[in-house]
Amino acid sequence: MTTTLVTGGAGFLGSHLCDRLIERGDEVICVDNFFTGGKRNIEHLLDHPRFELIRHDIVHPLHVECDQIFNLACPASPPAYQYNPIKTIKTSTVGMVNVLGLAKRCRARVLQSSTSEVYGDPHVHPQTEDYWGHVNPIGPRSCYDEGKRVAESLCVNYHRENGVDVRIVRIFNTYGPRMDPQDGRVISNFINQAIQDEPITIYGDGSHSRSFCYVDDLIEAMLRMMEQTETIGPVNIGNPTETSLLDLAQTIRSITNSQSEITHHPLPQDDPKQRCPDITLAKKVLDWTPQVELRPGLEKTIAHYRSLLES
Ligand code: NAD
Ligand code: UDP
Ligand code: UDP
Repeated sequence: MTTTLVTGGAGFLGSHLCDRLIERGDEVICVDNFFTGGKRNIEHLLDHPRFELIRHDIVHPLHVECDQIFNLACPASPPAYQYNPIKTIKTSTVGMVNVLGLAKRCRARVLQSSTSEVYGDPHVHPQTEDYWGHVNPIGPRSCYDEGKRVAESLCVNYHRENGVDVRIVRIFNTYGPRMDPQDGRVISNFINQAIQDEPITIYGDGSHSRSFCYVDDLIEAMLRMMEQTETIGPVNIGNPTETSLLDLAQTIRSITNSQSEITHHPLPQDDPKQRCPDITLAKKVLDWTPQVELRPGLEKTIAHYRSLLES
């Protein structure tokens, strides 16, 4: 039986990953410090005989035995990672060293969940893996972006120097049920606002864009990345369909039959204007393309948010 460690397993993506790993028969060790995640996301797994939860912060060494590690521990939403920027940096650097040290000792394969943020506010569209990015090293987002860039560097250097079997995926904006309604990300904010008929807050004029991937598609790509042996990455995973923030607001308003007005607010500093993955490499090595389109994905997410409001 494969024993799989998921750091950040009580978070949005981590909890969906734990579900899939339990489904396929793994022994799952979920490690989380509950900073942005919570027991609510994995409550349904707590009594499962193959699931174990450890409350632990990866900035401190961790000694467990495992065959595979998915390293997801790190706050992902801008308000969360900017709340304590030094801690965010430590999680992606000191935490990554600990995870790689653990992988080295256990001879475990480790998959690092990197991010499209390594491209910063990109000058190349869509972003291919060989683009080095355009990151402000001293801006408000740098604790996250630069932390993740160091984490990638640690992975490739542990691979080269110590032979650690690593995989790196660069995840683009992902959404779905269990995304923290209070995380301040655009889809959470717009859905909350629309279902409560409150003003929808677009930062800027709404012409800038993101590409949104539904969580089930993303988890499938992560699992395939871990299994394949063709490349250590980095490999972009995300949905290449670009959506303007204005279109997103209007789609959410239409699905929810909301009366919310659309309002405009200042764009935050260093906010990328456009982000869209080139997924040619993922198609080739993972034989993967996203299956869930934005509207049905949003409908499932909205249903989940409504159920939270009712509970
Ligand atoms: P999330 O905030 O829901 O999950 C992160 C989890 O890590 C939380 O449960 C949190 O409590 C835990 N955590 C944070 N710091 C920790 C630490 N020091 N020790 C142990 N646990 C810690 O975010 P998510 O959306 O599920 O993101 C998961 C991973 O994917 C993150 O590494 C993130 O950078 C990456 N990612 C996510 C997206 C996205 O759109 N969701 C995009 C790019 C990359
Ligand atoms: N580490 C860990 N769990 C393990 C093995 C190592 O947390 O099972 C930590 C260890 O505390 C160290 C880090 O991983 O700080 C890096 O380990 P490595 O072997 O690369 O370096 P060293 O121990 O030589 O500093
Ligand atoms: N955004 C917005 N209104 C909100 C929250 C976010 O217009 O209420 C914008 C934000 O400025 C950014 C985009 O939506 O341009 C995506 O923001 P998010 O925080 O979801 O992710 P990221 O900036 O990391 O891609």
